[in-house]
Amino acid sequence: MATTADHLRTALDGRWREVREKVRVDLTRPEFAPHFTPDLDAARAKTLEQMQFLAESGYAANGFSVEHGGTGDVGAAVTSIEMLAMSDLSLMVKAGVQWGLFGGAVENLGTAAHHEAYVRPLIDLDLLGCFAMTETGHGSDVQELETTATYDAASGEFVIDSPTPSARKDYIGGAARHARMAAVFAQLVTAGPGEEPESKGVHCFLVPIRDERGDDLPGITTSDCGHKGGLPGVDNGRIVFDRVRVPRANLLNRYGDVAADGSYSSPIEHPNRRFFTMVGTLVRGRVTVGGAAGAAARVALSIATRYALQRRQFDKPNSSEEVLIMDYLVHQRRLLPLIAKSYALHFAQNELVTRLHEIQSAREVDPQEQRELEARAAGLKAANTWHATRAIQECREACGGAGYLTENRLVALKADTDVFTTFEGDNHVLTQLVAKELLTAYADEVRGMGPVDWMRFAATTVGDVVKKRTAAQQIIQTILDTRQDNEEDGSLFNRGTQLRMFSDREEYLLSTAAKRLQGAQKREGDPFDAFNFVQDHVLRAAEAHIDRVVLEAFVAGIDSCPDEAAADLLGELCDLYALTVIEEDKAWFMEHRHLSVERAKAVTRGVNERCRTLRPHALELVEGFAVPESTLGAAMLEG
Ligand SMILES: Cc1cc2nc3c(=O)[nH]c(=O)nc-3n(C[C@H](O)[C@H](O)[C@H](O)COP(=O)(O)OP(=O)(O)OC[C@H]3O[C@@H](n4cnc5c(N)ncnc54)[C@H](O)[C@@H]3O)c2cc1C
Repeated sequence: MATTADHLRTALDGRWREVREKVRVDLTRPEFAPHFTPDLDAARAKTLEQMQFLAESGYAANGFSVEHGGTGDVGAAVTSIEMLAMSDLSLMVKAGVQWGLFGGAVENLGTAAHHEAYVRPLIDLDLLGCFAMTETGHGSDVQELETTATYDAASGEFVIDSPTPSARKDYIGGAARHARMAAVFAQLVTAGPGEEPESKGVHCFLVPIRDERGDDLPGITTSDCGHKGGLPGVDNGRIVFDRVRVPRANLLNRYGDVAADGSYSSPIEHPNRRFFTMVGTLVRGRVTVGGAAGAAARVALSIATRYALQRRQFDKPNSSEEVLIMDYLVHQRRLLPLIAKSYALHFAQNELVTRLHEIQSAREVDPQEQRELEARAAGLKAANTWHATRAIQECREACGGAGYLTENRLVALKADTDVFTTFEGDNHVLTQLVAKELLTAYADEVRGMGPVDWMRFAATTVGDVVKKRTAAQQIIQTILDTRQDNEEDGSLFNRGTQLRMFSDREEYLLSTAAKRLQGAQKREGDPFDAFNFVQDHVLRAAEAHIDRVVLEAFVAGIDSCPDEAAADLLGELCDLYALTVIEEDKAWFMEHRHLSVERAKAVTRGVNERCRTLRPHALELVEGFAVPESTLGAAMLEG
């Protein structure tokens, strides 16, 4: 008979549960046993070997369309790479670079000839590639990349060049050792007959960088980023181009093309919109990174909770036994809210993957849906990766000295996930992107604007902020409609009250941010200064939005759980998530009179109360994460 933990697992596993089950089985193979390999050569060789196994087992095919030799199951592709994070984050990242980023660029930015030539070999790892976007000088602002790809009509070639030291490609996964080809993002410079050469904006080019022996090709200089804060199995490196020539056909030309005579054409006229459309097709990487961070946090919480259920410290008066550390309220307060947040984010991530799958599997893509997807992906990437960083650190401390030993996994999880807050978009920059989408009520024009243009736009058009509900719209509405409490006497365990508090905070922050932006614009004159004046406020609004979206996803997750006992447990966990968010932002709620002093105290009591009621279920809750035993790999749990 299925246990409550089984029901929790089914609820969390969501639509792609069969994929998760398959990966769980594969991860029990000896090749995927957690390992600590600080030696770079050994770690990189091991990661490549693991990838060979994945390629042979057909892992990559889901990410590519049927016409190009794949299966076209986008959700399965993202889910399986996310699950790899439970075993080894270097493997997850390297697989993500090869199939998600390099492969994704070929698949989404290329056309038939590119698909024909490269997709099968890159699926099978006969062609190892890298994704060379970031430069030493520009990471977050990739529209300002300096690498140039200048078309030479006489030879029918593009000349790829790094004109300045800051144009060097930097941190690129695969560039130090294994990649033979790079998907290089560069300013496309061309001139049609009778025209002066000009930049048409950033485009992507396939540039061979190494020969079969692994040596740099003429004009290419690669170098190694060496030891990093983590991810030893990923060979991050740098690339400098000295007038490297590639055929015209190496431009990935789905969104912009150059004819033999140098004339430029594109189905998207506006350069900004063109650029953001191109980048938008690569959203899958961001979704995967957020999901993988969430998976890593679940591994850490599974380890630390199991440890807390066996570790004893200090005598209990009148008892021969020492106290289990999980029985200390403070320990419960450290771990259980993080478990609750992991559930919340997991449900939100599942919704996101479903939307990604549906949008990327559709024949026609609605631009508004695509933008909403990108904003949601940005927000959840930030939320998941910040959560992972915080949760894994807490888990490390919660295991005391044992937590600091590499044999117990937590330090490697911490080191490897650290950079997830930075790559695939820095979290603060991504949060800003969420805010822009919200504040401009999803207006079309805003998409590609820099801060100055955007400020001008926002100042004139922000009116009533459009508030979009998530997929859980009806359930949420019903809960709100039947809510029967108010600020004075309502219970903080009432879901309607919690939803209302999250929603009110978001609405207030958004509308006041919009008003302040307009005021600042009038006062400051300079659009940049005006925006900068309220930047912190704008980011708070976006964070409040993400919190609300995550809470609503949790509510929908509970609703979809058919088992009563599991649904009740999820309900209590959802209380804990909601009350913890409110407690962490108590000052704001009180300052803005959304919480009286008495009620603020009740929030703290509520968190304690839920910690106490959930304590007996601690093991069940982490069993619901269904982290394979083989990947828990913590020696301290064996005793
Ligand atoms: C291990 C690793 C692997 C990587 N792999 C790849 C890869 O395979 N391919 C690739 O192309 N790139 C890769 N990257 C690069 C990564 O994507 C960039 O580092 C990232 O986009 C951030 O860019 P940056 O380092 O230039 O930071 P910056 O953009 O310089 O940001 C520095 C700080 O400034 C802040 N900041 C920036 N702009 C603003 C703003 N407008 N408002 C407020 N604050 C701001 C940020 O929040 C951040 O804290 C990798 C990086 C690492 C470390």
